[in-house]
Amino acid sequence: MPEFTPVLALHGGAGTMSRARMTPEREAAYRAGLNAALAAGRAVLAAGGAALDAVTASVMALEDDPLFNAGRGAVLTSAGTQEMDAALMDGRDRRAGAVAGIFGPRNPILAARAVMERTEHVMLAGNGANAFCREIGLEIMPVDYFLTPARQEALARELERRASGAADDGDAARKHGTVGAVALDRHGHLAAATSTGGMTAKLPGRVGDSPVIGAGTFADDATCAVSATGHGEYFIRYAVGHEIDARMRWAGQDLATASSGIIAELAPLGGSGGLVAVDRTGAIALPFNSEGMYRAWVGADGVPHTAIF
Ligand code: ASP
Repeated sequence: MPEFTPVLALHGGAGTMSRARMTPEREAAYRAGLNAALAAGRAVLAAGGAALDAVTASVMALEDDPLFNAGRGAVLTSAGTQEMDAALMDGRDRRAGAVAGIFGPRNPILAARAVMERTEHVMLAGNGANAFCREIGLEIMPVDYFLTPARQEALARELERRASGAADDGDAARKHGTVGAVALDRHGHLAAATSTGGMTAKLPGRVGDSPVIGAGTFADDATCAVSATGHGEYFIRYAVGHEIDARMRWAGQDLATASSGIIAELAPLGGSGGLVAVDRTGAIALPFNSEGMYRAWVGADGVPHTAIF
């Protein structure tokens, strides 16, 4: 079997702090989180591990970092609760697992993975999903582990804005987030993983694009692996992950054209966001139509990069 040069790309959400509010200290903290997540996935790939294990490792690192909107530090619903969505997909055989609206597991991506590996289903939601996570012994954390003052303030500001009738100021950092990773491994296999707390002040029960296979998360060795971030309703309606696959598969587009095309098309509709994607040749695409997207990647040259704006 031919050997491929592994590549890895990840995002920490398109809901970046605006340039105006970004301080050197904050920027350093975000870059450190991105670098740690990149290192976690790279270690797996460098040891000859599977793309699926690499994206799981990178996403776990971002879930554990309270700066990012997934796992610890997930944003709050309008009721002040946290409901997390996650999914992953294996490009080898399109096996996939997802959870929606869960609370408790330290690493929602492990819950998604367990759905894939230990059930005959693709997605579990709500109470049933929470019970499943407990039954199989996933690490469960208390409320104060997940809750951060920054997310409480963000919810308070958003509820105040709504109550005052003021126009949405479009401050993406207050509303968005999500983390995700895509990888190509030494054996030529692709995988994608995505995890999120969703959008600040979302209605309890709302499910975004991240756990929807073909929307926020998608992988098929024949084409690409995609993990998205942004206004999830648009990413569901335009089936973004699958759309990129279809443009490559049926229209012969390359990864960059297919992925930047759909992200550009969403912008005028109000679908702000971006994605990270990798194809079977190891090409990486990181398009976004928002002010920034926390991202990190290492291509075939082995040089790690992080970027925000
Ligand atoms: N896409 C996520 C959602 O809609 C949120 C985000 O990426 O900002 O749940």
